[in-house]
Amino acid sequence: MSQPVLKNYINGQWCPSSASDSLPVDNPATAEVLARVPLSPAAEVDQAVTAAAAAFKDWRRVPPTERVQPLYKLKDLLTEHRDAIARLITRECGKTLKESRGEIQRAIENVEVACGIPTLMQGTYLEDIARGIDEFMVRQPLGVAAAIAPFNFPAMIPFWFMPYALACGNTYLVKPSEKVPLTLQKIFELVDQAGFPPGVVNLVNGAKDTVDAILQHPTIRAISFVGSSPVARYIYAQAAAHGKRVQCQGGAKNPIIVLPDADLEMTTRIAADSAFGCAGQRCLAASLAITVGEATEPFTYAIAETAASRVTGNGLEDGVQMGPVINHASRDRISGLIQTGVDEGAKLLVDGRDPEIPGLEQGSFIKPTVLQAIEPAGTIAHTEIFGPVLGLMAVHTVDEAIALVNGSPWGNMACLFTSSGAAARKFRYEAEAGNIGINIGVAAPMAFFPFSGWKESFFGDLHGQSHHAVEFFTQTKVVVERWPKEWSREF
Ligand code: NAD
Repeated sequence: MSQPVLKNYINGQWCPSSASDSLPVDNPATAEVLARVPLSPAAEVDQAVTAAAAAFKDWRRVPPTERVQPLYKLKDLLTEHRDAIARLITRECGKTLKESRGEIQRAIENVEVACGIPTLMQGTYLEDIARGIDEFMVRQPLGVAAAIAPFNFPAMIPFWFMPYALACGNTYLVKPSEKVPLTLQKIFELVDQAGFPPGVVNLVNGAKDTVDAILQHPTIRAISFVGSSPVARYIYAQAAAHGKRVQCQGGAKNPIIVLPDADLEMTTRIAADSAFGCAGQRCLAASLAITVGEATEPFTYAIAETAASRVTGNGLEDGVQMGPVINHASRDRISGLIQTGVDEGAKLLVDGRDPEIPGLEQGSFIKPTVLQAIEPAGTIAHTEIFGPVLGLMAVHTVDEAIALVNGSPWGNMACLFTSSGAAARKFRYEAEAGNIGINIGVAAPMAFFPFSGWKESFFGDLHGQSHHAVEFFTQTKVVVERWPKEWSREF
């Protein structure tokens, strides 16, 4: 049976794409084709941008207290439809239902924070900067902005940007990942009911060519990107070359350090959830565990046992703790990297390759894998695997462990497990990463803090979420004002 081709949402209408090509959207657990996603041509990006530019004229004049009303409505709709969206995320992305529900919660929290825009967007004022002269700074929206999203959080990641952009008075265009476009189709059905005027928020499907049309469009003022670092670097350069404001959150290779005084049971449970949750396809997944001194032996044994016992299967089923990776290509790439680790001298403590999962033989499965004695200069220590693979390294001191963290080109997250406040303070002070966890495995900032990747994990200055997003989606205007007495009317 041929699958329906998804539509774009432009100027408040669902529009069939005129694209000559489309890609299948697969369920990674079953290989069932769920739909087809059009590779929308530049003309459709232009239609969306033209609609957004026209809508901007009125939208920016809507008082902030009124602009947030459709967001309040959207929050209610997302909450009401949470389970349907979660099932869709699981079907196209593979993660478990529990993980999908958690993702939607994080999206909703960003809507809640953006609803505070009447306060967040305020400027500053100083009277009498010179005699009789006042000066103030206001924040004004930019115009049309766009987001380009990755596959691993199809609901949450567009919400790191979109609610803030809209609340600030911008109009918006989102391009979801072509691997998981169904979730935003559903969410845009809710956007359609939320009460945004036509053109204020638009959805255009596609892949690289559609992205290039966004990067080159002269009317788009700002671009938010989340995805792999090579593409982040490309988007950063191209958007800047076309005169746009840009923020690009890239890939990661996240280390966790385990000290001998860490609580072993808690550390193992949290480390396993971080490394194998969402099948390791989180930009904040722990992918290297650096054990210090006497932590090495008990942690190695405990994490191997936990990894081997993790229940892998279809994320829609009860009791499943880990779903598939996104597609066969990803599974094969991960298997290849595991072999590279072995070839470079690592010991394969738990091998998750080629698992037998009855009834899901066509799925893109790879079970939790643990590689011991990773070579610090080798491939596994520095390559983002983006799968359920944890590499182990052992050192003698916390200083050696921090040096390994800081020697990495990546800087998305680093975590420490300890019961020592002094060690924790030293670590959070010295670690060169933008999101730090102390006895936390996925140090994901809540919506009211910026998502602070560093180094190769981020290109730009203002991150997604919270006040960084408000600054990103506004431009400052400073007014210096004098009202000489002789010019004033006498009242
Ligand atoms: P990706 O870079 O392959 O794709 C991301 C987006 O870019 C998609 O919308 C895709 O259509 C587009 N794209 C892909 N190749 C392109 C090209 N050559 N030119 C222009 N556009 C292109 O990323 P992915 O595989 O979808 O997502 C996984 C990656 O995202 C991982 O590296 C992960 O670490 C990263 N990620 C980072 C964060 C963060 O906050 N730092 C969060 C989530 C995911």
